[in-house]
Amino acid sequence: MRPKGVFLTDQPVLYMVIPCYNEEEVLPLTAPLFLQQLQHMIAEGLVSENSRILFVNDGSHDRTWEIISSLSHDNPVFQGIAQSRNRGHQNAVLAGLMEVQDRCDITISIDCDGQDDVRAMDDMVKAYRDGCEIVYGVRDDRSSDTAFKRHTAQAFYSLMNHMGAEVIYNHADYRLISSRALHALSGFHEVNLFLRGMVPLVGFQSTSVYYARHERLAGKSHYPLSKMLALAFDGITSLSVKPIRMVTVTGLLISLISFIGIVWVVITALSGHTVAGWASMSCILCFLGGIQTLFLGVIGEYIGKIYLETKARPRYIIAERTQGMEKNENEARRQ
Ligand code: UDP
Ligand code: MG
Repeated sequence: MRPKGVFLTDQPVLYMVIPCYNEEEVLPLTAPLFLQQLQHMIAEGLVSENSRILFVNDGSHDRTWEIISSLSHDNPVFQGIAQSRNRGHQNAVLAGLMEVQDRCDITISIDCDGQDDVRAMDDMVKAYRDGCEIVYGVRDDRSSDTAFKRHTAQAFYSLMNHMGAEVIYNHADYRLISSRALHALSGFHEVNLFLRGMVPLVGFQSTSVYYARHERLAGKSHYPLSKMLALAFDGITSLSVKPIRMVTVTGLLISLISFIGIVWVVITALSGHTVAGWASMSCILCFLGGIQTLFLGVIGEYIGKIYLETKARPRYIIAERTQGMEKNENEARRQ
């Protein structure tokens, strides 16, 4: 745990990191809310007046980047970086966090659609000032989500935990991370990103703050069921080898049952009671064929992950920056 006050000579410099993908409808509504919250925290003496709001444009096809550029032009508190193409929410958040880790004391990542309550940031910063390096924003109310979204999200968390990927229940990517924890996170080199599972692995003193989840202010969700399932699968196979172990155990069980079956067949054959068992044979063959294919698929999934990890492709590529987000000479050379 960071001893109280040791690193806090002043108010911490905060960077809000906000991923945006095709958000031209909602950004003009939420940008003022983020600004208002930042000004409130500065006025309360919770964060430094050098704090900033960083939008990460994730290869949007609409006017999102123009909106970010014009916000930044009008008020330098707003900053922006643009990925060279759409890489997905997780990569966009990571790009923002890695870009600002040397510029600030703390970051808070939050979605740009107004669903997460910005006022919870007060408690997050207070928890940081009390010694926490990571503060998770946890939804204590999902009543604004549809019943379907609520149930699939619940299934998502329980599936993740049962499969050995530890995630905080009802926490998405709204969280405070200190610069120190970010530097530790930058040592995690995987390209299959699942930040919700990776951040707890970083360790350090952490806590949760609770808030009510609202409806999107405008625009529509980019996380339909298919994307959520893909994220869950990515999370499980990136963080845990439990499915492979389950394959091994099931394989062992099936082998055992088959062995008992063989003994039974031999005894029946020796006692001369053999009957033409076409149906049962077909069933067994189908069953084994199916199970084997399924398990090969699971193993293939891991091999696919290893394939991608060995390529070690860059996890994000920044194409454009607003004024104030340029890399300095030394940083540029280090890249
Ligand atoms: N997002 C992104 N890249 C993507 C999809 C989404 O940066 O490919 C951003 C999006 O702009 C939003 C956040 O990730 O700020 C969460 O997305 P969304 O609100 O669509 O998901 P939901 O809240 O419905 O799960
Ligand atoms: Mg949303």
